[in-house]
Amino acid sequence: MKIPFSPPDITDAEVEQVAEALRSGWITTGPKTKELEHEVAGFCGVNRAVCLNSQTACAEMTLRVLGVGEGDEVITCAYTYTASASVVCHVGAKLVLIDTQKDSLEMDYEKLADAITEKTKVIIPIDLGGVPCDYDRIFSIVESKKHLFRPSNDIQKAIGRIIVMTDAAHAFGAEWRGKKVGSIADFSNFSFHAVKNFTTAEGGAATWKDIEGIDNEELYHKYQLLSLHGQSKDALAKTQLGAWEYDIVGPWYKCNMTDVVAGIGLAQMKRYKGLLARRKEIIGRYDDAFKPLGIEVLNHYADEHQSSGHLYITRIPGITLEQRHEIIVKMAEKGIACNVHYKPLPMMTAYKNLGFDIKDYPNAYKRFENEITLPLHTKLTDEEVEYVIENYCEIVKNYIGK
Ligand SMILES: *Cc1c(COP(=O)(O)O)cnc(C)c1O
Repeated sequence: MKIPFSPPDITDAEVEQVAEALRSGWITTGPKTKELEHEVAGFCGVNRAVCLNSQTACAEMTLRVLGVGEGDEVITCAYTYTASASVVCHVGAKLVLIDTQKDSLEMDYEKLADAITEKTKVIIPIDLGGVPCDYDRIFSIVESKKHLFRPSNDIQKAIGRIIVMTDAAHAFGAEWRGKKVGSIADFSNFSFHAVKNFTTAEGGAATWKDIEGIDNEELYHKYQLLSLHGQSKDALAKTQLGAWEYDIVGPWYKCNMTDVVAGIGLAQMKRYKGLLARRKEIIGRYDDAFKPLGIEVLNHYADEHQSSGHLYITRIPGITLEQRHEIIVKMAEKGIACNVHYKPLPMMTAYKNLGFDIKDYPNAYKRFENEITLPLHTKLTDEEVEYVIENYCEIVKNYIGK
């Protein structure tokens, strides 16, 4: 058997939508992108969403909408993918990285509270693997530090405290206390990259909660300007009879979504409930097989939250880096592709060059050392799920508790 890590789940419905866009004569941002934005907003339970060409673009443009830049500080976790942090560098703000908790992949909230200064503008929590963070804790921290907050534009003033902007790249469809991710943090940024649960090949969406005193249409328009050259009219508006003229209001960026890929998203939207349910089923089988062996797994489903089931992160207590490598190789020999989520950012050249040192992130390192991520996707058959279970149990048995 050959089991890839995370192939896209594409059916004729997606192909049909793409063909329709291609045949329509309108292939860049247009009706399909706008329709997907409405569907994403409706799905998340918010009034507005913006679709761009990646989660990274959504996060960066959100920071720009928020007026975050030089002289500001933005805090995120050391245990994540680079995109959670690199966007802070893109806008010229100072990146602050926090270690994980001792027994969890979430950031250490005590250290988070201690890291907040008068310059802190945004916190970027990560709903890792699709499991929502402890938002009660995060919001109570930003409330308790309200006196330090120094707003520098209208939107910062309207929010009146540090802004919570979630990296929800993994968490489309996840829920926390009956609310969908996308409607919990002040801003949330989803990824529709090829390996994610819900894909448009490349793409992403930003959602936000209504902000008192801030007009949603103005906010939406700001994203449009920032993501399309600062051009006062988009391509579709310019096709109106005689409406050729436009202004450039800022020398801005180019990261809009095309209707070709929005079509993929519209088809995925119709199938997505079923895809989430299938992920839940597979996770249930994995959990039943692995927990009794002492393999630690994420708590994807509980009374308080429902995960989007994006990554099946496992931890084998006590193994070394070498043993972790051996297990991944043995799984590969059986045709099963595994991965590691994540090598902490302070171990990466780019972040070392920024002055971060893994010695300051002992908990993240301990998590990284014995983490293995198993294939979890909706192309897996029941037989393949069993095959992964049998082989992982067989291989891990020789390492666990030794
Ligand atoms: C995939 C991913 C991103 C980036 O998403 P893109 O759409 O590729 O920009 C950001 N954060 C995390 C945690 C991710 O896994």
